[in-house]
Amino acid sequence: MKTHLVLLGLPGAGKGTQGQMLSKKVGIPFISSGDALRSELKKRTDIAKEFEEYMNAGLLVPDDLVEEFLEKMLKRYDLRKGFIFDGFPRTTHQAEFIERYLREINVPLDAAVYLSVPDEVIIKRISGRRVCPKCGAVYNIYYNPPKHDEICDICGTPLVQREDDMPDVVKKRIEVYKKQTKPLIEYYKNKGLLVTVNANGSVQEVFNRLEGALND
Ligand code: ADP
Ligand code: AMP
Repeated sequence: MKTHLVLLGLPGAGKGTQGQMLSKKVGIPFISSGDALRSELKKRTDIAKEFEEYMNAGLLVPDDLVEEFLEKMLKRYDLRKGFIFDGFPRTTHQAEFIERYLREINVPLDAAVYLSVPDEVIIKRISGRRVCPKCGAVYNIYYNPPKHDEICDICGTPLVQREDDMPDVVKKRIEVYKKQTKPLIEYYKNKGLLVTVNANGSVQEVFNRLEGALND
């Protein structure tokens, strides 16, 4: 099974949902740049003040800043048995950085998994997204609601809506994705690493397809 992975796809495609499920099942770390950046914002660190403006506007944090942050974050993980990167790389510059980083620690990249979903599905998924600010679990009020009204099933914390999930910011994030991140699909295709998964379907259906594709 392919276990050294980066996830690609529009905001709301299901990268966090599928990545967390796979991480639990296979026992490899799920590492999300978005989660890590949001947790840095909560700590109100100096570096977070530099991220905040970009994140709230739906823009990418500039490559030099984010790469420095990612490098420090990645050093805390043992990546040898596998990994699932969610939210990075997001630009060709970041993809080259990740390649360099992995080469230096002698760890391969097996696949770039593209979760493919039509635009119209994305809007409803994002508008219904609720997240646990404590443990990072992801829910959806339409498709995947918690058992008790907006309370995390896992840790009992009240769920929140991400600030950048408001409609105006979502529009910007989709635009930014198409311009800056979508070219990575071609980038990984050219390297023979692209694995495309149809991510339009129930969470379980998509997970079955994902596992099937990684076992091919
Ligand atoms: P991403 O990490 O790609 O931004 P998420 O995993 O956070 O996406 O999913 C976005 C929203 O859509 C969440 O509210 C999640 O619960 C919901 N979701 C994810 N996968 C599906 C699916 N297959 N069907 C319906 N809703 C989904
Ligand atoms: P996400 O949770 O992946 O949707 O990311 C939320 C926001 O965090 C993005 O809109 C960006 O502002 C920022 N962000 C997350 N990952 C990256 C990255 N790899 N490069 C630049 N900005 C990022």
